[in-house]
Amino acid sequence: MAEAPLFRRLCVIGPGLVGSSILRVARARDDIAGELVATARSEHTLERVRALDIADLAEPDAAKAVQGCDGVILCVPVGAYAGVMAHIAPHLEPGCILSDVGSTKGSVLRDLSPLLPEGVHLVPAHPMAGTEHSGPDAGFAELFQGRWCILTPPPGTDPEATAKVRALWERAGSMIETMDAATHDKVVAVVSHLPHLIAFTICGTADDLAQETREAVLRFAASGFRDFTRIAASDVDMWRDIFLNNREAVLEMLARLTEDAQAFGRAIRWGEAGFIEDRIRRGRKIRRSLIEMKQA
Ligand code: NAP
Repeated sequence: MAEAPLFRRLCVIGPGLVGSSILRVARARDDIAGELVATARSEHTLERVRALDIADLAEPDAAKAVQGCDGVILCVPVGAYAGVMAHIAPHLEPGCILSDVGSTKGSVLRDLSPLLPEGVHLVPAHPMAGTEHSGPDAGFAELFQGRWCILTPPPGTDPEATAKVRALWERAGSMIETMDAATHDKVVAVVSHLPHLIAFTICGTADDLAQETREAVLRFAASGFRDFTRIAASDVDMWRDIFLNNREAVLEMLARLTEDAQAFGRAIRWGEAGFIEDRIRRGRKIRRSLIEMKQA
């Protein structure tokens, strides 16, 4: 017998790449939500949601959309959370579970907790899955399959609310880890935010070179640079908000990287082959472990 849906009425705020992928998963199964509501700020996005038929209702006003919902998932850039929350908070019903998919988690507690109505459960989540594409057409139901989803419920969160959010992500195909928001922010600063910072920087550096050199860079892009351009093709609003909302952790990791890169540079200058070989070996080892963990 099919399991009862986790949510009677689930609302996705911001049906872009991640939000529309959640809608697609929930649409494809009958054990996540009885009814699906989507709300977006632009009429174009709402029209696409209707055309793709990934929600039962596409409602322009987020305050109306969350009414009667027992689950609400914020899927907008993290810099927009405070504004959206101020708009929806008075309309969230007691017992409702408020979750999100934002890439920074300390900022989520900072922006949502003060406005959280009595009886509404906040269970932040971060699916570690994405592509460089945006918008409702970019989503797909398999996006979360085999990927980690990190939950960061603040101390004192109702365990039943956490269990429901965990079950949602498990049904979407994810593996779950729970940690506090500060640890999450440090981890993603290294594995996601720093690589993006490097990609944006290296593309900017290449772009600053003289026209003649730039042509050569692009012509020979296959050798490593191309991988950076894929990462650097990411959404502007989302990444601006991530850097501004994970400032401490990103700056800490950047300082460590800068020290390590300078040590590498020094080894090159002084011909320290052993140091260079060690760094390359460590890189190869990390790549091998990722492949073994099926995370490559
Ligand atoms: P997306 O495809 O660009 O979709 C963003 C959605 O948020 C759109 O529906 C957009 O509405 C809405 N939105 C944007 N700015 C807004 C504002 N100021 N006020 C209200 N709504 C706004 O983005 P995404 O890639 O799905 O990312 C959404 C969230 O997931 C972000 O918090 C991001 O950090 C997180 N995340 C992303 C990835 C990834 O790789 N992409 C991975 C994990 C987590 P309109 O369409 O109407 O403009």
